[in-house]
Amino acid sequence: LMQLFRPLDLLGWVYRTIRQGLVDMGEMFHLMDTDVEVKDVPAAPALLVKEPHVAFDNVTFQYEDGRTILKRLSFEVPAGSSLAIVGPSGAGKSTIGRLLFRFYDPQGGRILIDGQDIAKVRQESVRAAIGIVPQDSVLFNDTLAYNIAYGAEGADDEVVAQAASDAALMPLIKRLPDGFDTMVGERGLKLSGGEKQRVAIARTLVKNPPILLLDEATSALDTRTEQEILGTLKRLEQGRTTIAIAHRLSTVADADRIIVLDGGELAESGTHEQLLAKGGLYTEMWAQQAAERSNDAEPEAAE
Ligand code: ATP
Repeated sequence: LMQLFRPLDLLGWVYRTIRQGLVDMGEMFHLMDTDVEVKDVPAAPALLVKEPHVAFDNVTFQYEDGRTILKRLSFEVPAGSSLAIVGPSGAGKSTIGRLLFRFYDPQGGRILIDGQDIAKVRQESVRAAIGIVPQDSVLFNDTLAYNIAYGAEGADDEVVAQAASDAALMPLIKRLPDGFDTMVGERGLKLSGGEKQRVAIARTLVKNPPILLLDEATSALDTRTEQEILGTLKRLEQGRTTIAIAHRLSTVADADRIIVLDGGELAESGTHEQLLAKGGLYTEMWAQQAAERSNDAEPEAAE
């Protein structure tokens, strides 16, 4: 009998691992659209985060020979503060996120979390310290509770309920006859873009990571939903170090610091007010997007 069960158990384990692996990858939106794996150095220690300070120190990176994407890039994000990364399309914003999540190691320079070079610690411990709120979350064909607790196996009902409440999911859950036990996903209840994003926020609250990586391509949401989600995100950001990759500027104005990337180099940095006073690239992008926003008032405005 054992012989019959063991292979089946193994099969189930492999299936779950692959499924979770795939969905995790899929979940990481375009920030993570890569399947390249970096190798840990033998006997690498785990990253230990006491103060989630993040620093890029002279980072140079290329995906392929001959085309440098990031050029000696340096910036710091003090523990508990927020940084927004803006810049023209192709400037290298998402690449910074991929490097921080250690999908790649840089060819030059170092990326430090709480003073530790992330290339020298275990990859899995780096990823455990970083919560990602993707723009377009994948839901599992399972219950809402499972979807919220996903990634933090063993999270108890109380933690899940608190996260759902903090992510402003309770009005939805109270409307559902089966509440937290409602099946969602492709074969269950279909959630709206905003609701899915709230589930992703609740999931991140359960995971409780010291560092947040946000992809603020909120273009899929209407303006009202976007504003509501931003309010919820603010709560998630409390007490964490937040790095927001902003493909639009509307959401970055209150970041503690904004860096403007151009062609893989740091063009400008400062607060929203400081950057507007400079009258440089940021000011130009801001003016351009303000013009686009007024065009957005038209029904079929494309993003
Ligand atoms: P956007 O705002 O349009 O998303 P971005 O600033 O996030 O742009 P990145 O996605 O970081 O830009 O890309 C920076 C550059 O790296 C681009 O020129 C892109 O073509 C290139 N690039 C991105 N991913 C890869 C890859 N996997 N292999 C090779 N080149 C890549």
